[in-house]
Parts: sequence; C-alpha cells; structure tokens
Amino acid sequence: MLKVAKFGGSSMADAGQLRKVRDIILADTGRRVVVVSAAGKRNSSDHKLTDLLYLCHAHIQYGVDCTPVFEMITSRYLQIRDDLKLDVDLETEFALLKERLVAKKVSQDELVSRGEYYSAKLMAAFLGFEFVDAADWVKFNMDGTVDKKASYAALKELGGGKSIVIPGFYGVMPNGDIRTFTRGGSDITGALAAAALEAGVYENWTDVSGILMADPRIVDDPQPIPEVTYDELRELSYAGAQVL
Ligand code: ASP
Repeated sequence: MLKVAKFGGSSMADAGQLRKVRDIILADTGRRVVVVSAAGKRNSSDHKLTDLLYLCHAHIQYGVDCTPVFEMITSRYLQIRDDLKLDVDLETEFALLKERLVAKKVSQDELVSRGEYYSAKLMAAFLGFEFVDAADWVKFNMDGTVDKKASYAALKELGGGKSIVIPGFYGVMPNGDIRTFTRGGSDITGALAAAALEAGVYENWTDVSGILMADPRIVDDPQPIPEVTYDELRELSYAGAQVL
C-alpha cells in the first residue's frame, strides 16, 4: 500500500534529524512518497529557515545588504549536506539565487519557497529517491486556488509508481511564477500528493515522541498521555495545543 509521508521543519532541522527520517522511510517499503518542509529550529533560540528567507526578502525591499542573513541560510544547508556527505552542488544554485536577488528579480514567494526546495534536494539525495519539484505539478489557478485536476494528472505522470521526494509549501501560477500556500502549507502539499497518487495512507510526521499532560515549557517533566481519541485531539487543537 502506498503511503505518503510528510515531515515538518523540526524533522529537517539538521543531519541527525534527516537520519531519523531516513530510518522511518526505510522501515516501511510503502513509504515511497516523501514531502518535506524547510529546515526548522534546532533549539529554542534557533531560527526557522523560512523565517530567515522572509527576513532576507525584507532586507532587499528596504535596500539593506542581505548577505549576512543569506549566509545564515546557505550555511545551514551546506552543513546538513556536508554532515551527511552528500554529493549535491548547492553552491552553484546559491550563487545564482544571490545574483538574481540582488538584481531584485526574485519574488517573495519564490525566495521563501527555496527552503523547502533545498530540503527536498538533500533528502532526495540522502534517500536515493527522485526529486520531483512542486513547481512541476502543484498548479494554482489565477485566483489562488489549486487546480486539482491538472495537478493530480501532472503528479501521476511525473511520480506515479516511483520513489520520490517533493518540496512542500509551493506551486506554480499559470504564468510560471512560483506561489506559496499560507504558512504551514507543506501539509497541504502532502495531502494533495496523497490524493493525486491515491495513497492508502497520508502520514503527517512531527518530531515529538508523544502528547504530554502539560506544556513542557511551563511544567517540569510532565507525563505522557498513553492513549488519546481523535475527538479529544480535536478538542485539544481547538484549545490551541501546539503539539498538533
Ligand atoms: N516552511 C513553511 C513555513 O514555515 C511551510 C511549512 O513548513 O509547512 O510555514
């Protein structure tokens, strides 16, 4: 049975996290379609790559040199690549992006989508899966809704029957421009991929080992809840529980 597995930013934060993701994928041969977010925080004082990309764009808008922020972004990905000893040429892509950025030729949506794009490139190389760009199949209509029929057909054509890694969070407008979903939108990409490929299961992984009885940032050492129903989970999410 085909399973689409989506991994969020915390699961993509560093090389150790990517190793965990690989173990999860390899533990079940049904997990052939992987959707990833941009690298998230490694610790509470760290930054999400997507936030840094938004910041980088703001620098350019205000005419401030974005080099220091750009280097924070690129060094995160270079470190993951080098820690995992992957043979992926990121330097050429970074140089090209920087050149277009400085010339103000990169839209905000395109720039922030690069977090997912580089994550997926590295994950694909690490797993030995094929990289399938979201810009080649997540097709937006002019009004910002997704053209599901065209998108599903395109993904079936590109990735049907294969082992693939897809970047979440973005797609393409009818004129070829990159467009992102709202924040957290990689979940939507995962759901679209699962529907397109008629997967038996859509798994949405997050790097927490269980749901605790209290927020561990507030209460020391809370106990895990051994069992929870979907209804209870829904109540918790309405009440704002971040674990979901
Ligand atoms: N990276 C994007 C965000 O931070 C999308 C996602 O992770 O789903 O919102």
